[in-house]
Amino acid sequence: MEGKSLPDETEAGRVDSVLELSLVIPLYNEVDSLPHLIDAIDSTLLKHKIVAEILFINDGSTDGSDQVLSDLEQKDNRIRIFSFRRNRGKSAALDVGFRHAKGKYVITMDADLQDDPEEIPKLITKIEEGFDVVSGWKKKRYDPISKTIPSKVFNWAARTVSGIKLHDFNCGLKIYRREVLDTIRVYGELHRFIPILAAAQGWRIGELVVQHHPRKWGKTKFGFTRFFSGLLDLISIVFITRFTSSPMHLFGSFGFISLIFGFFILAYLSIGWFIGDPIGQRPLFFLGILLVIVGIQFFSMGWIGEMISHMFAMAKNPKQTMDD
Ligand code: UDP
Ligand code: MG
Repeated sequence: MEGKSLPDETEAGRVDSVLELSLVIPLYNEVDSLPHLIDAIDSTLLKHKIVAEILFINDGSTDGSDQVLSDLEQKDNRIRIFSFRRNRGKSAALDVGFRHAKGKYVITMDADLQDDPEEIPKLITKIEEGFDVVSGWKKKRYDPISKTIPSKVFNWAARTVSGIKLHDFNCGLKIYRREVLDTIRVYGELHRFIPILAAAQGWRIGELVVQHHPRKWGKTKFGFTRFFSGLLDLISIVFITRFTSSPMHLFGSFGFISLIFGFFILAYLSIGWFIGDPIGQRPLFFLGILLVIVGIQFFSMGWIGEMISHMFAMAKNPKQTMDD
């Protein structure tokens, strides 16, 4: 593999602005597909004359992927490798890629060749239409039904609660302007929600139908359980994106409703007690007390949340203090 080189690095260690693209590829035990993947990427980049760096994030592979990667790196100086000692998950891997990417655009792609490198130029064309993020849509998907049906439900739920009209939130193939990545962090399993995180920061999100292929080598790393963890994460993400800056809006509303109901129930029972109605054994009495206690707890959580967001806001702007 000759003639594969990146533009020279500047003194600051950043590659000159001619670097159009960073490919970020997380991988976990994909030893068999790697050589095919790099060939396919190579021919696309060559054909379309795209200057790119290729970042592989080896997520604790134990199948010899590390050796194959370092062999590839020897022959091709566009390749950069980052390795985890243990498997930390696709989100953590993507996050490392996002922190180190230097290109004007960043494309994420799975390492199993289910995503087609031929989509790279099309993604670039699409983002240049005026988007900040373009998410792939595997319209015709080559996965078992145990994956496609839960995925449809998940995408419907994500669309409904987020209001973002994407068909395939979790598509591995996406393109970003690099500035976008400075404003989001992915951890846990949040990689499924990157479009929601980005939209919450005001970035424009687009969609492009992409070619998908069946897995030829290795096996999938995500089982059916991801469906449930995905739905739980969806609730967290809505909470994070909507209420982080004003947690009292959420907790206060619940607390207020609970307190009002509790207060009226107890007031009603107290009036009865004054006119001689015993209340000690009435179920309504316990409900009233419960609602008041729960209401106070919601308010307390809201206040703690407010204090935390206030401290973060202050930390972002150190000149401003409470004494100002
Ligand atoms: N992956 C990873 N860490 C993990 C699980 C997966 O880096 O813990 C990588 C995997 O090697 C692949 C991509 O994430 O490059 C997508 O995984 P997979 O193909 O198993 O997902 P599926 O296509 O079945 O949804
Ligand atoms: Mg796959």
